[in-house]
Amino acid sequence: MKKRQSQVECAVWLTRYLLLSAAACYTFWPSIAAAWQQAIGEAHAAALARIEEPSVAASLKFLASDELAGRGTGTPEYAIAAAYVASRFQAAGLEGGGDQGTFYHTKEIQLSLMPGRGIEFASPQGQTLPFLGVLAATDQEVAAAGAVQKLNLREIPEDGEIAAVVLAELRSPSPPARAVQAILANAAAKLSARGARALLLAVDPNDDLVKNSLRSTIQPRVVDPRTNLAIPIVLIDQNLTNQLEQVQLKVPPRILQSYRAKNVIGMIRGSDPVLAAEAVVFSAHLDHLGRAPNDPEQIYNGADDNASGVTAVLSLADAFGASAIRPQRTLLFMAFWGEESGLLGSRDFAARPTWPLEKIVANINIEMIGRPEPGATKKIWVTGWEKSDLGTIMNEASQEVGVTIFEHPRYSSMLYRSSDNWSFAEKGVVAHSFSAGSLHGDYHQPTDDWEKLDTQHMTEVIRGLYFGSLPLTSGQAKPKPAAK
Ligand SMILES: [Zn+2]
Repeated sequence: MKKRQSQVECAVWLTRYLLLSAAACYTFWPSIAAAWQQAIGEAHAAALARIEEPSVAASLKFLASDELAGRGTGTPEYAIAAAYVASRFQAAGLEGGGDQGTFYHTKEIQLSLMPGRGIEFASPQGQTLPFLGVLAATDQEVAAAGAVQKLNLREIPEDGEIAAVVLAELRSPSPPARAVQAILANAAAKLSARGARALLLAVDPNDDLVKNSLRSTIQPRVVDPRTNLAIPIVLIDQNLTNQLEQVQLKVPPRILQSYRAKNVIGMIRGSDPVLAAEAVVFSAHLDHLGRAPNDPEQIYNGADDNASGVTAVLSLADAFGASAIRPQRTLLFMAFWGEESGLLGSRDFAARPTWPLEKIVANINIEMIGRPEPGATKKIWVTGWEKSDLGTIMNEASQEVGVTIFEHPRYSSMLYRSSDNWSFAEKGVVAHSFSAGSLHGDYHQPTDDWEKLDTQHMTEVIRGLYFGSLPLTSGQAKPKPAAK
């Protein structure tokens, strides 16, 4: 009986308490909601305070400084740039997201230097003949002599012996470097199989290939096994081909060195027990073209391409690291090596990921955001727009800070496969590059300097990317690939 009475009392008190609570909530709810909204607003304001023009400009200037010598993959300066990014990730409160919880995802790669001396190119009588450079050398010294056979690279006979020394012409201007590599690798394999020992490639002396061959005698180049050549290639002036009937030549081997190439990866773990297993990746390539071929004093600083994108990744890491609102999904911040050599760093990540690719909901890759097209400040275009709804989702959210994310009529489809997003996209991850720049005259020139960038525009664009990504980081939205 006693027990029953106490239960009744308890129920009465509980009912009173609930009624009072409900009344209080009803009375005070608008102010509770307002306070909550204000707290969210303040958290984002604190995050935005980490994306300010002075700090954006400071990161950009350091990465694009002469001291970093153009961040060529394989150089000591690239390693300094990577150490800087790792240090900034640590300062922003990130955990290592690379190998064994470190900030680095490392790959031992081979670098090659083309022989700059010891090349012999002469008539049968020993009279020296002029040449423009060595575009490719093999792992052994190659000597060849005899009559020169002229061939069209696209019409190499499928069978029968051909001469030891073949001469072919490459029309100028030569196609983009990657296309040339593919053409030459294919031709060299066929020529070698037919018995050729060396290829003389006749080009315009002003062609970029000549510059590249000079560069590769002083600046180690990443060996990409896909484009290894079976025979050496010597560049000659296309105006002198008639003088080449009989030749003898000797090309020393290329010099191989090994190098530890580093992607840099930082992580903020998601706060939601379920969504934390999914990651949003912010990335940018850290490498650029290094020093100029025939003048080491001249530096390809790569301010827009892509010190600007790395600056965005660093600023976003600062902002998310400082925000009082923890992301529900895990965030990964990445800086890649070897983009300029064929997306090699991001390909290596996709081949040996430290986070499962199927648990990456989106890759937001950032490329060249410092030099807007006329009238296009606060505007970001996305490559491969129609491949998923990521651009649409982010555009809606970035309106919060007046930034528009859109489909560029020319570049969006043209450049989808041209940057590190492609390493993810080709493995089925929703992945796009975000650019707020233009293909200006300084693109891939030593004149791509930080003085030419609009750092206020960059700051607003980075804020746009921060807000644009909130639906993903908070788990409210999950981008879907377009139906095929
Ligand atoms: Zn780039």
